[in-house]
Amino acid sequence: MAVKGKVLIIEDDRAICNFIRRVLEANGYEAVIVHTGREAISLLASHCPDVVILDLGLPDMDGMEVLTDLRRWSLMPVVVVSARTDEREKVRALDAGADDYITKPFGTSELLARIRTAVRHTRTTSGNASIAKENRFTAKGLVIDYDKYRAYIDGRDAGLTQNEFKLVALLGRYAGRVLTYDYLIREIWGPNKAYDNQILRVNMANIRRKIEKNPAEPQYIFTEVGVGYRMIEAD
Ligand code: CA
Repeated sequence: MAVKGKVLIIEDDRAICNFIRRVLEANGYEAVIVHTGREAISLLASHCPDVVILDLGLPDMDGMEVLTDLRRWSLMPVVVVSARTDEREKVRALDAGADDYITKPFGTSELLARIRTAVRHTRTTSGNASIAKENRFTAKGLVIDYDKYRAYIDGRDAGLTQNEFKLVALLGRYAGRVLTYDYLIREIWGPNKAYDNQILRVNMANIRRKIEKNPAEPQYIFTEVGVGYRMIEAD
């Protein structure tokens, strides 16, 4: 099996390290493990991994320091490992340049999805091969047509307004990745609307009414409570 990419795991919990290593190696990735921030900083430059998995609670330093140090010289994708309840910490890590996060305890499919998305974003400029090739995003009957500026559900025009389309289009470009409330608001409404989550919530409710079969149980755009939204991965 060809190696799909090299993943550096920075995590002091041996059980979690072993779990991640087992999953990655069984799925064709190469795993390199370090247990401290100091080792991580020296290894990052020499190993140039495709993806970094970074635990924020390291024994010798705050994982955020490792992230900040790395971002001075590299944009390599970083997926932060965080505790379930700490939304503020997740947002802080994303603001500091993390690409995504994964919440403890996590399962195999969630871990692989985060890594797949992160590797894809390093290898194609738009982060999505079919958007790059034919200017459209397709997932489970949802089509976002970037030329026509329209979204379709099972072949039918979803009738999104301009801002609704912009939101869906942006989430589609970064499919599989969480985009924060602040980021989305800034991109669609500009910097002056920052921190006005209400406008985003209303638009998202309308989008879901138009594209989801059951808006209460979305299958395309997922809510990451306290952080933002995430589009399903492309087919
Ligand atoms: Ca830890």
